[in-house]
Amino acid sequence: MSDTTPTGAATADEIHESAPAETDQVPTDTAKAAARSDEPVPASAALFARASAVTPGGVNSPVRAFRSVGGTPRFMRSGRGPHITDADGNTYVDLVGSWGPMILGHANPAVLEAVSAAAARGLSFGTPGEGEVALAEAIVDRVPGVDRVRLVSSGTEATMSAIRLARGFTGRPKIVKFAGCYHGHVDALLASAGSGVATFALPDSAGVTASTTAEVIVLPYNDLDAVRAAFAEHPGQIAAIITESAAANMGVVPPRPGFNAGLARIAHDDGALFIMDEVMTGFRVSRAGWYGHERSVETSVSAVGTADQPWVPDLFTFGKVIGGGLPVGAFGGRADVMAMLAPNGPVYQAGTLSGNPIATAAGLANLTGCTADVYAHLDRTAGTVGDLVDRALDEAGVPHRLQRAGNLFSVFFTDAEVPDYDAARTQSTAAFAAFFHGMLEAGVYLPPSAFEAWFVSAAHDDAALQTIADALPGAARKAAQALG
Ligand SMILES: *Cc1c(COP(=O)(O)O)cnc(C)c1O
Repeated sequence: MSDTTPTGAATADEIHESAPAETDQVPTDTAKAAARSDEPVPASAALFARASAVTPGGVNSPVRAFRSVGGTPRFMRSGRGPHITDADGNTYVDLVGSWGPMILGHANPAVLEAVSAAAARGLSFGTPGEGEVALAEAIVDRVPGVDRVRLVSSGTEATMSAIRLARGFTGRPKIVKFAGCYHGHVDALLASAGSGVATFALPDSAGVTASTTAEVIVLPYNDLDAVRAAFAEHPGQIAAIITESAAANMGVVPPRPGFNAGLARIAHDDGALFIMDEVMTGFRVSRAGWYGHERSVETSVSAVGTADQPWVPDLFTFGKVIGGGLPVGAFGGRADVMAMLAPNGPVYQAGTLSGNPIATAAGLANLTGCTADVYAHLDRTAGTVGDLVDRALDEAGVPHRLQRAGNLFSVFFTDAEVPDYDAARTQSTAAFAAFFHGMLEAGVYLPPSAFEAWFVSAAHDDAALQTIADALPGAARKAAQALG
């Protein structure tokens, strides 16, 4: 992979949903396991062979291929509550949750019922309908700062459109993003900083031209000084800063206190927009996403009536939870910015299946199911699982760092704090691969990459927690062995 990437910059695969380049060398023990004739998951292996003959890499999104952990990807057949079941009939406690949407657990009855009721009325009309109005109202109602919202069909579409809108509104070309933050596979956002250079973004993916990323400035996460320097160097040129509201696509790296507020201030002082990408965190870490979570923490620690102006992002992007497992994304924010969109304004954006009645019904049912009790359960469950992981790795003597952002968390196999992407990449991916397979064999499905968040759901009950607790000591010992 590295030979297709100029100057050794990170590959797109490293950033999300696939293998860090160095783990293209599959750990030898798992490579052997995959090649053995006593394949432990013959049905998945047969499906993978069929898939690989008709689909590049056998998958429709890279991380699913298990490249960074080795072994045969499990082809899932069904899911219920906290469990998923593969083609060989093995059932796992799922800590991926379709990368976030399944916040109520799999096959949630209320979501299924909303989907069947909508499907019975017809699948798509290409006209406006009531379902999309109701979902937009639910979003506007939950997130302070979202006056208007437009529905799309993926998180990628949401960020792509938000960037176009920010450029159209400000009439400026440049975008600031952070290394290790993933915003979907938008050409301009598939960029990382070249080694030590913070002014020119280099394409992360073959097929993205240097001219596409030339207007993108990639900076280290959690580094406000770097942001100030970029604005000093390009005054009046930067249309927007886009950031994950809490970084969770390089593993979980929470923003330092004041980082997001600082970004808003620096952007606004220069007349640029601040875009918060809440595709993962939105409606997951609280009813009002990370923004709502962070604002409520700030309010509780600062004296009431201080002169501090509240900071508000100009645009937000959403996805994952708002589709309930069907394809939905959204972007929204300030009414005057959103008024620039067609048909009101000159920024074009459209979609044949945008606001699809089935997808919006699923999304609305999912949001409606996310009660205060559900968020309390998610926080408790994430706390418990994180603590169990911490303890098991401690007991096995494995250097690690458990990082949390609300109810999102992940473990880095390194002993230093991880504030940014460079630090995230110092971890041992071999230790993760061994740990991952230890958990998988014991019936727990983790994200198949060390650079992904773990997701709990409302359906993770005591029995699911017990399965996780029972799996951990053995998996931790495997991680310890991998470190030698
Ligand atoms: C998943 C994700 C996206 C991309 O969403 P897709 O629906 O996969 O296109 C964008 N931003 C963030 C923060 C994400 O986690």
